[in-house]
Amino acid sequence: MREKNAPGKKKSIIERTLDSLSDRNKAPMAAYVVLAVLYIVCSAIVTLTADNGNALKIGGGTVAVYAFAGVFSALSNIFIIFIVLFYGKLGFRTAMVFLCVQLPMIISGIFIRGNYASLPGLVTDIFTIIAIIMLYKNNERVDRYQRKLRDQAVNDMLTNLPNRFACSELINDLIKHGEKFTVVSIDINNFKSINDTMGFKAGNSVLIEIASRWETIADSGLSSTLDFITRVAGDEFALIIRNYRSEDDVVKTIRQYEAALGNRVTVDDCDIYITASFGYAEFPTDADNFDSLFSYSNAAMAEVKRQNSSDHILRFSSELLKAGRTLEIEHKIRTALDEDTIYFQLQPQFDLSHKLRGFEALARIKDSEGNNISPGEFIPIAEKVGLVDKIDGAVFRKSAEFFGELLRKSPSSDVTLSVNVSVRHLMKNDFVEEIRSIVENSGVPASQLEIEITESIMIDSADKALQCIKELKNMGMKIAIDDFGTGYSSLSYLNKFPANLLKIDKSFIDKMNASDSSKKYVAAIISIGHIMNFDVISEGVEKEEQLETLREIGCDYIQGYIWGRPLPTEDAEALYLNAV
Ligand code: C2E
Ligand code: MG
Ligand code: MG
Repeated sequence: MREKNAPGKKKSIIERTLDSLSDRNKAPMAAYVVLAVLYIVCSAIVTLTADNGNALKIGGGTVAVYAFAGVFSALSNIFIIFIVLFYGKLGFRTAMVFLCVQLPMIISGIFIRGNYASLPGLVTDIFTIIAIIMLYKNNERVDRYQRKLRDQAVNDMLTNLPNRFACSELINDLIKHGEKFTVVSIDINNFKSINDTMGFKAGNSVLIEIASRWETIADSGLSSTLDFITRVAGDEFALIIRNYRSEDDVVKTIRQYEAALGNRVTVDDCDIYITASFGYAEFPTDADNFDSLFSYSNAAMAEVKRQNSSDHILRFSSELLKAGRTLEIEHKIRTALDEDTIYFQLQPQFDLSHKLRGFEALARIKDSEGNNISPGEFIPIAEKVGLVDKIDGAVFRKSAEFFGELLRKSPSSDVTLSVNVSVRHLMKNDFVEEIRSIVENSGVPASQLEIEITESIMIDSADKALQCIKELKNMGMKIAIDDFGTGYSSLSYLNKFPANLLKIDKSFIDKMNASDSSKKYVAAIISIGHIMNFDVISEGVEKEEQLETLREIGCDYIQGYIWGRPLPTEDAEALYLNAV
């Protein structure tokens, strides 16, 4: 480790920043002044009272005035010990000046003026001086040890740059003081391949060289900003930029650090060309706490790496979070598929007399911490990354197997299992075959299975989808149009579509009772459905008054929290066995 804070050497900007952080824990100067004044006052009282033979009346008795000198002498010694204890070299010098000024006065009092009452004061002073010297020497030793410990705590052993701890200390301090600053997360590109091909030693030499170039920039004041460069882990560095006017200044500074990599690094006679990715976020504009700030600058840096473009500098934007969340969910979907942990819940559907019509199987994924991820979030992502057919397939297979078991336990020919199928799944070449084999293996009669296809997707899809739907229908399965009302299907299209059931979207049921026209609108949908020979079910029924209206306008079925939330399989089984 290079020697930092060497005596006599001028301190660098980085060292001064580190010092200023530890100085913030030191005792305040105001307390020093108070202690010094108290010491002077107590000493003056001692001088004034030491040879005063008068007596003071206190309560019923009398006390000699000079008896108080002892009290104030003890107090003055306590104050001077505090000064030495809390104010290091300054405290020690102050104490010595005070005592050395006082000492000749006491000596002259005794030997010239014959004031022998001051003799105990002289002895106390001499012992106080000895105690203070010993205290100071011991303090110095402890201080040296503490400084060494702190140096080790805030410096990175390899590069001798400040480390992650120093970085977080400075950031937290700046946040506390509300000072505007920018955090730049830096990652060396392809560093792993340097380590892999040339060995750890060469990798370390590269890191030391990079750190030294960046330290020079930070310390030389070459940039127009005040910079603090740290190594936070492996090949990751963090730069904290302060004292700038605009974002242009920040980018200019980052470019200087980037340019410093421009020259090759030579290790073991090999020239290595280094580049790095820089992502930054500003306090307080982008984030107002340490964790968010760091994760945002990291997200921007990760995006630079992902884009692999020629510009290696990027500021955080909220778009990046969405991309990050999408990647995270995609990863969780893949894990759930690999580990076959996708499961389903069953939401019951009833007719208006509360008789069970069937269940809708709804996909569920838990992450590794056991938290549920909503299908509203993971299904659109699964569609985007081409995994939705696997989810559909797993839910279909598992729920059909479960339903088959249920039917074997207690047969019933009029309870239906509905499953959601995405159009992407539907468009796959082997879709019909896949469904056929699931149906056969489960032992559920096709007539008791229903496929739900969302209206908005359905109308955009090609004839091939329609062809598949017809084949399923020929197998005897029912077809439901899900979320009806959210797409723009024309009446003539609906007429062509071989559906059995129209599911009115929750959004219409939510506002149905708000106005007469909304109620008439839902009534019209139900009428049209009936004209086309579809049954009609309302989704998301939550309130008694909605139920009443639906009864009044002739809806056939309902699905909603009012009579049943999505249930775990055991609860769905109990409900089924009770109903049949
Ligand atoms: P969906 O098919 O329209 O399913 C109904 C959604 O509404 C379910 O949400 C259900 O829990 C919710 N719901 C039902 N009744 C009420 C109610 O009274 N109040 C409220 N607030 N919500 C109610 P969930 O389970 O979050 O599913 C959301 C969507 O995810 C589904 O909408 C469906 O489009 C999709 N999805 C779920 N499972 C699968 C699947 O296995 N495959 C495919 N492709 N999509 C699925
Ligand atoms: Mg559905
Ligand atoms: Mg729906």
